[in-house]
Amino acid sequence: MKFFLLGLLISTCALAEKNDLSHRPRSFLLSGGKAVFVDFLEANYKISYNLNSRSAQVTATIKFDAPEAGFPVYDSEEDAMSVMLDGEVVREKQIKTPSRETKVRMINKQVAVGTHTAVITVPLNALIEWGRDGVRNAFWNSDLMDRRFLERYMPASFEYDQVKMNFEVEFIGTKTKYKIYSNGNVVDNGNNTFSISYPEYFNVSSVFYHALPRGASDEVEFTLKSVDGRDVPVTIYVMKPEVLDVDTLKMRTTQIFHELEGDYGAWPHPSLTIYNAGRGGMEYHGATITSTSALGHEMFHSYFARGVMPANGNAGWLDEALASWRDKGYNTTYELAGVSRMSNQFYYTRTTDSSAYVFGERFMSYMDGKLKTKGGLKPFMRHMLEKRLFAPLFVEEFIKEMSEFYGESLEADFKKFTFGTKNSFQKSFSGDHPMHQKMSLEELQKLL
Ligand SMILES: [Zn+2]
Repeated sequence: MKFFLLGLLISTCALAEKNDLSHRPRSFLLSGGKAVFVDFLEANYKISYNLNSRSAQVTATIKFDAPEAGFPVYDSEEDAMSVMLDGEVVREKQIKTPSRETKVRMINKQVAVGTHTAVITVPLNALIEWGRDGVRNAFWNSDLMDRRFLERYMPASFEYDQVKMNFEVEFIGTKTKYKIYSNGNVVDNGNNTFSISYPEYFNVSSVFYHALPRGASDEVEFTLKSVDGRDVPVTIYVMKPEVLDVDTLKMRTTQIFHELEGDYGAWPHPSLTIYNAGRGGMEYHGATITSTSALGHEMFHSYFARGVMPANGNAGWLDEALASWRDKGYNTTYELAGVSRMSNQFYYTRTTDSSAYVFGERFMSYMDGKLKTKGGLKPFMRHMLEKRLFAPLFVEEFIKEMSEFYGESLEADFKKFTFGTKNSFQKSFSGDHPMHQKMSLEELQKLL
């Protein structure tokens, strides 16, 4: 049994590695060489909060595989304080991708094909608040704005790249006790130090992390019985002085959990963490920061977005379209007016085209109508969870899977409606989408 499990673990890792490499963006030329997207194999992060100097920093030790020789690419919004590559002091620099769709960083030293180790230290300045009661910090994401995944807080890879991550967290110079809400396995080591380990299928969009002084939040914990027999642990919390409406939140969470399991199978994650912030709306693997009204939308994303995962910006619309399709009550239509470029943004784009919410929803309603005689879209969605769970994909693979599932090519519909050169369709609301507001750092800061 032991050997069988070990074998299973090795083959899962090998599969993840293969998936990472086959979804890696193309290298691009620079003066003096080429920038190469690499495969992170393991990333260990030391996160230190110093209450005396009111400063924080992260040191990342990253083991990576370079499948081609060149300058290794990673990303971090912050300039590095120091970089070591294979034991040698080196430098990094920020560069633009060829169509200037995004910025990334590269280590300013070429590597040979093979495994290397980089140690990069950056200051931690985003979503951190030094208050009278101590420090608060969160690593919250947005897929609607560029460079708003883990790279905003620490050196990281990209959505295509799944990597085993571990955090070592310490709060120095304080007697205040801390609490960390996270979708990883949090171990309190005493003396205000914590270890958090995350599953090997996580990527830059997966981690939910919120550190705060103990007593600042109010929480309820309970379990939900999954269809697969597990008791899934659930934590719901609010920030004081907000009052936790335990009955309503428990009831809604339970209802949505069973609805989603009924449609798409067992809850894909080991737990569920909900920060009921009253605003926000962002999904993580088995976690969300949300308002009560967006809870269904965000929990749905634990199946599509953080279950069936996008490998790049052009695949990001699929889960928003499906989530919006559920929000609107799984409409069925037989005609569709308009076009979009949701699948056809510039090659290195990392963000989701916001047409997903309106036009994407209509597209899924139309596809449901088209496939109605074959059961509609829902059986295919369930199939995708069984077949492609935790294996980031391109939109082209989604189309291929769908065509195979229904036994007819659906490429022409996707080409016509999602691979256009512009977004042109009737809008149904103005301003931000009610589920995912584009929130500035100042607005998110208030939710810490
Ligand atoms: Zn969404």
